[in-house]
Formats: sequence, structure tokens, C-alpha cells
Amino acid sequence: MRPSASVHAFDPETGVMEADAGVLLSEILTRVMPLGFFLEVTPGTAQVTLGGAVANDVHGKNHHRRGTFGGSVLSFTLTTGDAVTRTCSAGENRDLFSATIGGMGLTGVIGTVRFRLMKVPSANIRQTAFRFADLDRYFDAIDAIDAAHEYSVAWIDQLATGRHTGRGVVMAGDHAPDGGQAQMPAPPRLGVPFAPPVNLLNGVTLRAFNALYYGRAPKSPSVSLAGWRSFFHPLDAISNWNRLYGPRGLFQHQSVYPEGTARQTTLALMDCARRHGHASFLTVLKRFGTVASPGLLSFARPGFTLTLDFANAGAQTLRMLDALDEIVLAAGGAVNPYKDQRMSPAMFEASFPGWRKLEALRDPKIVSDFWRRTALMLPVNSILTNNSTPLEKTAAIPGQIGNADNFNQIPVPT
Ligand SMILES: Cc1cc2nc3c(=O)[nH]c(=O)nc-3n(C[C@H](O)[C@H](O)[C@H](O)COP(=O)(O)OP(=O)(O)OC[C@H]3O[C@@H](n4cnc5c(N)ncnc54)[C@H](O)[C@@H]3O)c2cc1C
Repeated sequence: MRPSASVHAFDPETGVMEADAGVLLSEILTRVMPLGFFLEVTPGTAQVTLGGAVANDVHGKNHHRRGTFGGSVLSFTLTTGDAVTRTCSAGENRDLFSATIGGMGLTGVIGTVRFRLMKVPSANIRQTAFRFADLDRYFDAIDAIDAAHEYSVAWIDQLATGRHTGRGVVMAGDHAPDGGQAQMPAPPRLGVPFAPPVNLLNGVTLRAFNALYYGRAPKSPSVSLAGWRSFFHPLDAISNWNRLYGPRGLFQHQSVYPEGTARQTTLALMDCARRHGHASFLTVLKRFGTVASPGLLSFARPGFTLTLDFANAGAQTLRMLDALDEIVLAAGGAVNPYKDQRMSPAMFEASFPGWRKLEALRDPKIVSDFWRRTALMLPVNSILTNNSTPLEKTAAIPGQIGNADNFNQIPVPT
């Protein structure tokens, strides 16, 4: 979608932009920041297209205030495999609108998007940072932090144990008053020119890095001006950062689980990874708020979300990821499908019990590896319920989708 993608219109009176799906979020920011606007929701990289942001209904550090990217979307055009282009919005083709936001590209191709941006005093961030000695202190403080700030996120030292278990650093922020903008130069661009033969981010290097990072963080809340790039998109400054994980790359495990048992679940997930001999390079904890997403199958929902990044060490990493899934499942949570390469059909169904509605609205000419590996492996009978619409029945014809031979071998939670 990138070639010839462009911004068609932006109205500074209303903050509404119309742009092609292939436009990058970084290009949108470059265009609107001089006019005092910013994206309502910004994920951890700006090298994301508008279409990708809608199709995965991405979230940012302000989910507790603004929900997901889909909440900014007013309408889009969607072209389906029968060569029909429809305009979708909350008032027009509503089902497709909802199924496409967070629909992982399965309902058709998004063409142009109309969405809202927000007026900000400046793009840069007045950041408040401090460290916390253990996870209890984080959970004791987070209500007040989220109430006071537009953005908040915490880094956790996943390797710390004993009385330091769950120590970390909170980074909260708000758009700085006017005048903070021009002073912030672009950070130097670094790069990892080739993949080293081994993973450089192992237990030894991470333990040292974590101790240093934690030790250098302020003991009590300290306010500073942070450039918007370093606050929102720190990894964008290092091209090919993923090569640091060595030739086998990394897995990211992101889950969301209910607030009531979030302390225990967070500890259990980090402990499980340690017991399996895995160290997470970037461990990020954040609260998702209660702003409902317009997306049918959106990942973000009220609760806490933990993101763990692991070097891929083969079968043992896959075993550990399955064990993490079990913990999330027991807590009544969900695993992020758009960062996944291995979750079981059962885990997917437990995370997204409403998946059949998306299957019913899926463009029959579009399927993904993810959908084949999860949804289409679930028992055909669970699709053909009494409540099924004719469309669902059509979509569930064995042989047309999925691998019918495996349908009865997949354990499905009742
Ligand atoms: C460093 C880093 C940080 C990240 N931080 C966050 C974060 O904070 N929050 C978060 O939610 N995510 C985060 N992500 C994930 C990223 O935001 C999403 O995966 C995003 O959707 C990727 O968009 P893309 O344009 O690269 O799309 P792709 O990766 O190419 O596609 C993503 C999905 O969108 C679909 N799609 C893309 N374009 C269209 C279109 N025109 N029509 C229909 N479907 C389409 C594709 O089929 C696919 O299913 C991060 C990723 C990285 C690498």
C-alpha cells in the first residue's frame, strides 16, 4: 500500500485528516505537528501505516485515556475480493466497519481513511520518571499516575528476584507547553549493520543492563522535557534493532489480564519466564483503561498488559510461551494475536470468543497464516451453532478453509 500513498486533506479547524492507508504514521506526524496536532493514539513505532494501525487497532501509552487507534477513525473505504468498494463508518456498513478495525486485514483492503487528530500545545513531552522498588509499589501508585497523566508506561526488571522482584521505572507524561518543540533535535540514528552469530541480549548482558538502567533512574518523581521521538518511538532511532537478537530473532509475548488479580498474574508471568531460563530484554507493563474499542476483535480491553521480548532459542522458547499462555488463560486474559506466531487455536478462542463473527464477515478471498493456524483449526461444529448466520455456514465448509483433518484434534476450552 506504500507506493503513491498520500495525504488527501487535513482540516485544522476540525483536526480531521483523509489519507491513503499506505501513509506512515511518521509522515502524518511530520505533516501535522507544525500545525499543533498529534495522533490521538501513537504505538511504539511510527514506521506503521495507517492501514496497519486500523487493521490491528493499535494502542499507545494513553490507552487509559483514549482507548485504541480505532477510536479516532471516522470512516474508511474497503475493497473486497469481489471488486466492490464500500465506505464504512459507524452509520454505514457498520458491521464491516467494526470487523475491519482490529480485523487483521481479513475483511478486505482499506483504501483511504478519515480520522481525527488531537490539538496539543507541543509534540514534546513533559515527562515524570521515577523508579519503584517492587511490584507492589507500582500497583499502589498507578491509579494516581494514570489519573494525573495523558501517557504512562512502566519498564520492569524481569530478572530481579527476592525483595527486588518486579522493580522498575515509571515513565509518565503530558504534552509540554508551547515552546518545548523547537529545542528538541532528532536523536542520532544508529544501526545494527548485520546479525551477530549469537544473541547479544542474553541473561548475563541483560542483568547488567537492567541493574544499570534501574540504578540510574530517579528515586523520586523527576520532571524533564523529553523529545517526542525518544518518548514514543525509542527503537525507531536504531535501524534493524531486531538483529541484536541474533539470527533466530525474537518472540514478543503480549498479554492482557484482569485488574483484580493483576499483581499475581504479572509476577507469575515473569517468574515462569525465569524458571524456563529466559530473560526478557524489554519488559513493559501498562494499564488498559475502560474506553471501549469500536473493533470487533480488538486485543486491548480493561486490565493490565505485560509485554515480554525473548530471543528465540527454539523449542524451549516455544514451551515457555505455551506456559505463559496457560497463566494468562487461568487469569481470564488474552494474548495479542497481531504479535503472535505460535499461539494455539484453543488459546486464540479463549482470548477471542467472538471470533466467529469476524469469520462470518471475512472476505472469502482473503485468509492469513495466522487465521489458518488458529480460527480455521477450531472444530467445525463450534462454528455451526444454532445461532449461525448463513454466511457463517458458508465460511465453515471444510476443505474451503483450514485443515479439516485436524479439526477434532485441537483441545478447546469449554
Ligand atoms: C518497535 C515496535 C513497537 C510497537 N509498538 C506497538 C504498540 O505500542 N502498540 C501496538 O498496538 N502495536 C505496536 N507494535 C505493532 C505495530 O504497531 C502493528 O503491528 C501495526 O499494525 C503494524 O503496521 P504495518 O503498517 O507495519 O502493517 P503490517 O505489519 O504490514 O500489517 C499489519 C496488519 O494490518 C493489515 N493491513 C495493513 N494494511 C492494510 C490495509 N491497507 N488494508 C487492510 N489490512 C491492512 C495486514 O494484513 C496485517 O494483518 C509495535 C511494533 C514494533 C516493531
